[in-house]
Amino acid sequence: MSDFQALLDTWDGETAVIRRDRETGGWIFICIHSTRRGPAGGGTRMKVYASPADGLEDAMRLSGAMSRKLAVAGLPFGGGKGVIAIPEIPTGQPRRELLLRYGELVASLGGTYCTSSDMNTDEADLDVIWERTKYVFGRSVATGGSGSPARPTAIGVFHGIRASVAHLDGSDDLQGRRILIQGAGGVGSELADHLAKAGAAILVADLDRARAQAVASRVNGDVVHPDDVLEADADVYAPCAIGGTLDIDSASRVRCPIVAGSANNQLAQPEAADVLTERGILYAPDYVINAGGAIGVAGTEQLGWSEDQVNAALERIGETLRDVYRRSAELGISTAAAAEAIAEERLSEPAAHA
Ligand code: NAD
Repeated sequence: MSDFQALLDTWDGETAVIRRDRETGGWIFICIHSTRRGPAGGGTRMKVYASPADGLEDAMRLSGAMSRKLAVAGLPFGGGKGVIAIPEIPTGQPRRELLLRYGELVASLGGTYCTSSDMNTDEADLDVIWERTKYVFGRSVATGGSGSPARPTAIGVFHGIRASVAHLDGSDDLQGRRILIQGAGGVGSELADHLAKAGAAILVADLDRARAQAVASRVNGDVVHPDDVLEADADVYAPCAIGGTLDIDSASRVRCPIVAGSANNQLAQPEAADVLTERGILYAPDYVINAGGAIGVAGTEQLGWSEDQVNAALERIGETLRDVYRRSAELGISTAAAAEAIAEERLSEPAAHA
């Protein structure tokens, strides 16, 4: 327990709920980092950790990241995160029972924490949690939810790419621009369609070559080998696969003048953002450009927005990025630092829901 105490002493969040799940031998952590702007929103991660304290640390860190992400997105939510730290990932009935227990714990918080999916949880799991609490977003269409957030995420990234191109070149016209999408999954594949429709030339890289080929064929694009992404000659590099793609080495090598994609936690080393700035490469901070999923799901399910309202909010991702770029240029700081500054400002504004 002293491990937990030492960790919590370092944390600036509001509430940490710690529950031993005796049935599985696991631990459940719900960290509510901030409710200043509204109820804390954030996904539930199910994962095998080396120690329970690692699970708590992840929940603490990720809940802070959610506060910044949702504040910059302008949503009336604070940041939270649920972590189910478990000896092995359960399936079948034991999984269902665990999720029901988890749902009861979320319900007991009375709406201060609203969950969605994250690593190793999906909309089917959210449907189960929904049986115990209404404080869920991202459940399946069959139960009245909005389903996968990949589509609004891709639309948000599309607007973010247009804003990034406009910042560098004065026009957001994508006609003839070469855009390299790393990862032809849920987001990357949808993004390719939007970009191609706007006239961009698409390059696709995926470890799953058949997947890359399928998307490239659909949009009349080309496949790039996954190892050749950094050296590729394109106007925009859109990382839509995995996190940690930008460290000091890769930031020194990337050739595209714009890095703008959906992947979470792209900066493996924070200094990579400074390297990109020094090289004149425009980096769209990941949590700013990939907020479309949160906007779409929270807007539809929790805020009662119409499709038009959701689309307008997705378009505002472009405006937010322009603001980030302006500040970065004016203050001579990286775009990542500029985004952090906007987040800090919004988190210290008077409570939006008071
Ligand atoms: P996905 O699992 O559907 O697709 C990821 C794709 O990337 C897969 O096709 C995989 O084969 C490929 N891939 C993995 N490693 C690769 C590599 N090294 N090089 C090339 N391709 C590689 O995931 P997704 O839902 O499309 O999400 C993509 C990224 O965006 C993830 O980092 C995710 O965390 C982030 N993100 C997703 C959403 C969302 O709504 N789905 C929201 C915010 C952020």
